[in-house]
Amino acid sequence: MSVEEFDVVVAGGGPGGSTVATLVAMQGHRVLLLEKEFFPRYQIGESLLPSTVHGVCKILGVSEELAAANFPVKRGGTFRWGARPEPWTFSFSVSPRITGPKAFAYQVERAKFDEILLNNAKRKGVVVREGCTVNSVVEDGERVTGLRYTDDDGNQHEVSATFVIDASGNKSRLYSHVGGSRNYSEFFRSLALFGYFEGGKRLPAPYSGNILSVAFDSGWFWYIPLSDTLTSVGAVVRREDADKVQGDREKALDTLIAECPLISEYLGHARRVTSGKYGELRVRKDYSYHQTTFWRPGMILVGDAACFVDPVFSSGVHLATYSGVLAARSINSVLDGDLDEKTALTEFEARYRREYGVYYEFLVAFYEMNVNEESYFWQAKKVTNNTKDTELESFVDLIGGLSSGEAALAASSRIAERSAEFAAAIDQMAGGDDASMVPLFKSQVVRQVMQEGGQEQMRAVLGEDAEPELPLFPGGLVTSPDGMKWLPHRPV
Ligand code: FAD
Repeated sequence: MSVEEFDVVVAGGGPGGSTVATLVAMQGHRVLLLEKEFFPRYQIGESLLPSTVHGVCKILGVSEELAAANFPVKRGGTFRWGARPEPWTFSFSVSPRITGPKAFAYQVERAKFDEILLNNAKRKGVVVREGCTVNSVVEDGERVTGLRYTDDDGNQHEVSATFVIDASGNKSRLYSHVGGSRNYSEFFRSLALFGYFEGGKRLPAPYSGNILSVAFDSGWFWYIPLSDTLTSVGAVVRREDADKVQGDREKALDTLIAECPLISEYLGHARRVTSGKYGELRVRKDYSYHQTTFWRPGMILVGDAACFVDPVFSSGVHLATYSGVLAARSINSVLDGDLDEKTALTEFEARYRREYGVYYEFLVAFYEMNVNEESYFWQAKKVTNNTKDTELESFVDLIGGLSSGEAALAASSRIAERSAEFAAAIDQMAGGDDASMVPLFKSQVVRQVMQEGGQEQMRAVLGEDAEPELPLFPGGLVTSPDGMKWLPHRPV
């Protein structure tokens, strides 16, 4: 069997895999992405955060495509939660880190959203192969040096790469090759039963695109508008009530809806979708977990492969794409010879764990139902260690995916804007009319020269205006001005 060689090979083409693959390819490295399914494919996780839409998606260069997709605009969240009997609403516009017109995210059909990201990866130079299932990794002593996969015709292949990324999500077992163990939370062990409805009621404008989350005796419901008429509805029930989602799923969902007056009211005139990709009633365990370690020499876990936390704050795609950004910075730094692997990946893991940990800790407090929303806002300020902003601002920052203070995720970020200009320039060249440009652009040397030029321009533009970033931990690294790598911290 001949062995193909790449700088990086990624298993999984969800948001985590597409993000890391694209950002590494944008630096001129050779990237292969292997995806088991053929896109568009169904996935749950439809409510996005501003950090993904205005931060990561902008850096990836897909903002315009997202805007053109007509996904419902999510201005915040509406909760019937805690001691207060009436629903309460928060708006992303409260966050000091989101500029006015960008104070929103989208509710997305994941089949469409994930396909936008994967097609963009192809345009940015990633070699994408769908219908290819990764089976195992290749090891040389301590180091992972490649992987083996089976294509759609059943042929076996081997790839060697400096880095193997496992972005294969929640169901695959590849993560176990990184070592350590998957640690499940004792606290968050729920089951979700979900389906789709036509004709459900909408919240009043301007919040008609909000996620509506409603606590009830057995757990909580999500109610996510995916178009003017289509709604994603899911019941998340505690492990002790698992029998409520067993047996006939249709009956089980009807019974749970009847237990929850607000959701019953919103679905009063709605009809469940019973055919096509939304016709099935699905059950998913949504147990929270994290792997003991997120990397070993030559292998990195991104997204659900590394960790997952209860979906009540819609943090899954944020954690997947943010970890993709962090992993890409580490890989770019190592491949360019700027940093050693241990230093770069220690930074990746520390930042990823911090983000995961903040959600985890806050969510534990959020499940305390005998308090009102002010208490949740206070908790958010505490867990994010936010000394600058009000309690409500800290809460909105946390659930907007912005509590890390990462410039690349903030809607107003100049890093995001500059990187996006560069991403657009690559798109233009790769897809331009002049066919002779494509092979030229694909030449490693030409791409590298272009990209170095792009970075110089960004540095020049940002110059002294670039906000100073402090390391996350003593001896830690800071982000390069273009957001694509790590740099040692040099205090002024
Ligand atoms: P995925 O999106 O799972 O992508 C992994 C990809 O890898 C898939 O395309 C899969 O086909 C492919 N793959 C798998 N195995 C292999 C293999 N061996 N070889 C090659 N390819 C492989 N998140 C939100 O942001 N908002 C929400 O509202 C939300 N709601 C949720 C509700 C529930 C009940 C649950 C359980 C989760 C929810 N999530 C939500 C979380 C969200 O679904 C995930 O966190 C997110 O999809 C993770 O992205 P990923 O790229 O890591 O993995």
